[in-house]
Amino acid sequence: MNFSEIHNWLRESDDRRLEKLWRTADDVRRRNVGDEVHLRGLTEFSNHCVRRCAYCGLGAHNSGLEHYRMNADEILACAGRAVELGYGTIVLQSGQDSGVSGQWLADVIERIRRQTPLAVTLGVGERNAEEFALWRQAGADRYLLRFETSDRALYERIHPDLDGVRSDRIAILHQLRELGYEGGSGVMIGLPGQTYETLARDIELFGELDLDMIGSGPFIPSPHTPSARSDEKQVPNSEIMSYKVIALTRIICPQANIPATTAVATLNGQAGYELGLQRGANVIMPNITPPRYRALYDIYPAKAGVEQDEDYHSLLKERILAIGRRVGAGRGDSPNYINRRHANKEAATCAR
Ligand code: SAM
Repeated sequence: MNFSEIHNWLRESDDRRLEKLWRTADDVRRRNVGDEVHLRGLTEFSNHCVRRCAYCGLGAHNSGLEHYRMNADEILACAGRAVELGYGTIVLQSGQDSGVSGQWLADVIERIRRQTPLAVTLGVGERNAEEFALWRQAGADRYLLRFETSDRALYERIHPDLDGVRSDRIAILHQLRELGYEGGSGVMIGLPGQTYETLARDIELFGELDLDMIGSGPFIPSPHTPSARSDEKQVPNSEIMSYKVIALTRIICPQANIPATTAVATLNGQAGYELGLQRGANVIMPNITPPRYRALYDIYPAKAGVEQDEDYHSLLKERILAIGRRVGAGRGDSPNYINRRHANKEAATCAR
């Protein structure tokens, strides 16, 4: 699918034609990543953040936020909970927290890998090359870093540099790949200033970067942030636009792991997850952060998962079965990554 086809689909409003997009994406999903839905235990372990991203409620401009940082034992308890629930991965996510040292996080990763069979995914922002290498050595498997938008001018407006260091998330994604991480990225849908052309280019770029995981979700205005006050024109930050992005991403990156994200569920609850899964997604990241911290990870209001109770996890599994899918077993590495590693090994063997 080329740029203008992606662009036309993003503008499509005829329900019958959109049915065709959903069917195609679902078919590509089934043939490439199968019927399993992989569940990742999302642990939001710190809401401290040194950045001032215009869109995010954790940004340093939100002076009213009550801060927390979980200790290592609390994080290990979440890993234990993920194992109990039958999940194959723990996702450690946080603001860009300068109070989290490279070594401290490396020790936590090492403990999780030693004590559990879980794969470890990190999403802790733009850290330095030594830290990425240290965490990989400690056993981290995957790294999530959204490039947020492919429009450099828009990116610079919403994601200011820090201490004079130019933020270049695309360069970091290349670094992570070199280190052998499974690399994940994504964008927000309907950011003020985002055009249909930009969003089509975002999706095209997913393919060019050969990403292993791609998570995109609607921009949800957060009251304490500059983006919430913007009146710039934008692509709709709607549920339907989010499904279009999921479906097109699946067609462009058939073997990537693609979540139905929390932001989609924030717009339409469990149905948001299910429609995402039926339109190209194969991953859900249920929140396993201890309830007392969950509401404080306040990137935007009314975030899905904050209020969920203990029954939630078994209900989720029932719903997955009810739409004719299976709950994924094991780590659920992305076929895109597995095939790349395999091809690299073969190339190395041939070169010998
Ligand atoms: N600090 C890490 C980072 O920047 O990658 C991870 C945490 S950050 C809160 C995770 C993602 O939340 C961001 O990449 C961004 O796409 C998303 N996000 C932040 N504010 C949002 C908003 N108002 N609406 C939708 N998504 C948002």
